[in-house]
Amino acid sequence: MTRKVTDTDLPRVQLDLDAPAPAPAPDDELRSRLASAERLAAALFEGSLLPIVLLDESLRVLRANAAYCAFLGRSGDELAGADLLDLTHPADVAKSSRAMQQMLAGAASAVVEKRYLRPDGSAVWGRVRGSIMEGDDGRKVLLGVVEDIGETKQHEARLRFDVLHDPLTRLPNRTLVLDRLDQALHDAMESRQLVAVLHCDLDRLRVVNEVHGHAVGDEYLRAVARRIESALRDHDMVGRLGGDEFAVVAERVSTPTEVLGLTGRILDAVRQPLRIGSATLAPSLSIGIAYCQRASQTAEQVLADADAALNAAKRSGRGSWRLFEDGQRTWTSEHLALRTRVGAALTHGELELHYQPIVRLSDRATVGYEALLRWRHPERGLLTPESFLDVIVDSEYETPVTDWVINQATADAAHWPDGSAPTISINLTVFQLARTDLPRVVTAALARSGLPATSLIVEVTEDRFLERAEGVSQLSRLRALGVRIAIDDFGTGFAGLGYVQRLPIDTIKIDRSFVSLLPSHATSGHIVRAIFDLATACNLRVVAEGVETDEQLTALTGHGVGLAQGHLFGRAAPIGSYATD
Ligand code: C2E
Ligand code: CA
Ligand code: CA
Repeated sequence: MTRKVTDTDLPRVQLDLDAPAPAPAPDDELRSRLASAERLAAALFEGSLLPIVLLDESLRVLRANAAYCAFLGRSGDELAGADLLDLTHPADVAKSSRAMQQMLAGAASAVVEKRYLRPDGSAVWGRVRGSIMEGDDGRKVLLGVVEDIGETKQHEARLRFDVLHDPLTRLPNRTLVLDRLDQALHDAMESRQLVAVLHCDLDRLRVVNEVHGHAVGDEYLRAVARRIESALRDHDMVGRLGGDEFAVVAERVSTPTEVLGLTGRILDAVRQPLRIGSATLAPSLSIGIAYCQRASQTAEQVLADADAALNAAKRSGRGSWRLFEDGQRTWTSEHLALRTRVGAALTHGELELHYQPIVRLSDRATVGYEALLRWRHPERGLLTPESFLDVIVDSEYETPVTDWVINQATADAAHWPDGSAPTISINLTVFQLARTDLPRVVTAALARSGLPATSLIVEVTEDRFLERAEGVSQLSRLRALGVRIAIDDFGTGFAGLGYVQRLPIDTIKIDRSFVSLLPSHATSGHIVRAIFDLATACNLRVVAEGVETDEQLTALTGHGVGLAQGHLFGRAAPIGSYATD
C-alpha cells in the first residue's frame, strides 16, 4: 500500500516554525491547518532522535535528518544525492539492495539489519525499517527509519566470540578449529590444494604448573600461543584444543615443503627462552602433522591422524615433529586400551622390574643393576616401556607407579639372591623428581627394605629443570640422604654442558645413540671423548649405554670409559635369573 505525500514532505521542506503565519481567511482555514501539520511533520522529521532518510527510486538520498547525518558521521550536504549503496558496508550491499528492490516491486515495507560505512571506514550497525510512499508526481519515495543496534551487535559478537574461543589465550577453541578445518577441507576439494593439521603439544606444562604455580603456567600458555601465531602464514589458523594442546590448520598448501617450513618456524619461535616473573622457562613443542588424504575424510579424522603423529613425535623425544603414517593410528587405540588397564596392572601385580647389569670394563665384574620397568599384560604378553610409558607419564598413575618402582627396587636389592645387596639404579621422570614428597618416599622405602642409601642411584634425563634452583635443591635433598644421582641419556638433551659441574650428581650415562655408532663414526668418538673428559674434570663416573659389540667395547676403553651396560654383557632380566644355584 502506498501513501500519498505532498510536495512539502519532500526535500524542500524547511524548518519555518517561527515564521509569522498568514492571517487566516475563513475558506483558508483547512489549508492553514494542513500547512501547520506539514510544518510539524517536517519538524518531527528533522528533530527525531531516530535517524531517518528519504530515497528516490534509484536509491539516492533526497533528504536525511540530523540524526541520520550524525549516525553516518556525514553532513546533510555530503549526503544529498549520495547513492545509498555507497554508504553501505560492502558485505551488506546485496541484502540492502534486495530489500529495496522488493519494496519498489510492490512490498509495502521491509526490515534489514545492515552496516553503514562512516567516512573513516568504520562500520555502524542499524536495523532499518523501510516503507514506500508515492510523491505528487507519482514517483516512489523510500522512507527508511534506522535503529542503532551497535550495542546489541557488539554484545552478540562478544557472546559468539566467547562461545568459540579459549578464554585464557583468546585463541579459537576446539569447536572453531574443527569448524574451520571442515571449511578448509571443503574448499580444498575445489581448489585441489592441500590442507595440513599440525597438532602441537606444549612439553612439560605440568612441571611448570607444579614448580612455578598456575599463574606462571597460564602466562606460559599465553606466551606460547602468541609465539605460534607469530610463525603462521596468512592462511593459517591456530587454536587451543585444551590443556597443553594447540592445533594449526594450514590451508592453501601447494607442497609439503611449505608445511615443513611452517613447522620449523613454529618450533624455532617457541623454543626461545622465556622469562615470566623470576622464572626462566625453556618452552618446547612436540608436533604431529597430518594431511587431508581423501575427500571423504572428516575434520575429526584428520585431527585424530595428527594426534597419532603427535604421540609418535613425543615418543621420539620432546621438541620434535612427526608426519602421520598409517600405522600410528592403531597405536593410539592401543594406547587408549592400555590406559584403561594401568590401574588394574598395579593392583593385580602385572608390573615387574627387570634388572640389567652394569659392568666394570677392566674385569667385567658387575658393579650394580639398572631396574627397568616391564608390564606382564594378560593378553599382550611382556611389554617394554616403549609401548606403555607414555600411557603412564603425565597420567594420574605416574606417581603410584613410581612409588611402586622405588619400593620394589629397594626391596629387591636388599634381598638379592646372592645376598650381596648390590647398587641399584632406578629411572625417574623430571616430574617425579620435582615432587616435594619424593625424599620422604625414598627414605621410607630405604628404611623398610634396610638398603643403605648409598646403594641407590636415581637416573634422570637432562632437562632444563635441573638448571634451575628448584631442580638443584631437589637433587640436593636426595643427595643429602646419601642417594646418588645419574644423568641418563647424556648428550641428547640440550647443548649447555656447563650445568653439569653445578649439579650434585655422581654419574653420567652416555646415550646409546653415540655408542651404537662407534667405532666407525668419527663424530661419535669425539663426543664420547668429550663427555669422558668433561666427566673426569667434574670428578664424575661415566657409564656407556647400549654396548652390543666387542668393537664398541674396544673403542670405549680407548676413550677411557670404565663402566658400561648393554646386550654384550647382559639384557634386563627378572631378579630370579640372578639366583645362584
Ligand atoms: P634407559 O634408561 O635408557 O634404559 C636403557 C634401555 O636400553 C632399556 O630399554 C634397555 O633394555 C635398553 N638396552 C640396554 N642395553 C641395550 C643394548 O645393548 N642394545 C639396545 N638396543 N638396547 C639396550 P627399556 O627397558 O625398554 O627401557 C626404555 C626406557 O624406559 C629406559 O631407557 C627408561 O628411560 C624408561 N624406563 C624404564 N624403566 C622405567 C621406570 O621404572 N620408570 C621410568 N620413569 N622410566 C623407565
Ligand atoms: Ca636409565
Ligand atoms: Ca639411558
